[in-house]
Amino acid sequence: MSYEVELKHIEKYFGSFKAADDASFGVEKGQLAGLLGPSGSGKTTLLRMLAGLEQPDKGDIWIAGRRGNKIPARERGIGFVFQNYALFRHMTVRDNLAFGLRVQKVDDHIIKVRTDELLELTGLTAVAKRYPQQLSGGQRQRVAFARALAPNPKVLLLDEPFAAIDAKVRKELRSWLREAIHNLGITSLFVTHDQDEAVEVADKIIIVNKGRIEQAGSPVEIYQSPQTPFVADFIGE
Ligand code: ADP
Repeated sequence: MSYEVELKHIEKYFGSFKAADDASFGVEKGQLAGLLGPSGSGKTTLLRMLAGLEQPDKGDIWIAGRRGNKIPARERGIGFVFQNYALFRHMTVRDNLAFGLRVQKVDDHIIKVRTDELLELTGLTAVAKRYPQQLSGGQRQRVAFARALAPNPKVLLLDEPFAAIDAKVRKELRSWLREAIHNLGITSLFVTHDQDEAVEVADKIIIVNKGRIEQAGSPVEIYQSPQTPFVADFIGE
């Protein structure tokens, strides 16, 4: 099978602590995958290595048919949505979306067209002139999503995308994000420790425990046939 994103036998140490232990998995083109596991199991570290924000000590990273280990972060074609969204507080919504394109010296007219498109896609046109602190949690998440999409990445990575969202609107946002990602057809990988979230949102679930991949498969596969004692225990069997 050919994957759009693949990690092969990745190892990562922080000092003597092994944060990734022979971790291998793949995500197909257009698939929305979820890394699921307890807090501290190494999910974010895997995401950060894919994005080029951390370097693996061993193993290979493949992105869209290219060996990614040595490709600088900004050239990997990856969009990243950080857990706390990391929006620029002193910039309007529109300027947050335009920022990366301005840095790349994209033509002003093209920036205007692209930001209009992203505002429309995320339903933020009416709040384009507001600042992040004037938005709801859900709106902030959508700004972070739109900003990550601005340079047209091949792959989108999202670290705990619903963690900062009110429980009341979380469900609504989960289905919104799932639909938006599928409509765009962009290969995506998100991190969560919430089983309901993984089952509701992901096409494929990758179970992480102590830096190891315990099992990867569709939600049905995982829940009907857990393959390791950890997975069976984790999903409450
Ligand atoms: P998760 O996303 O599953 O909660 P992380 O990938 O954030 O887990 O962290 C896995 C482990 O690696 C944790 O024990 C964490 O403390 C450790 N860790 C993560 N990043 C660093 C770092 N930069 N330096 C030292 N330890 C780290």
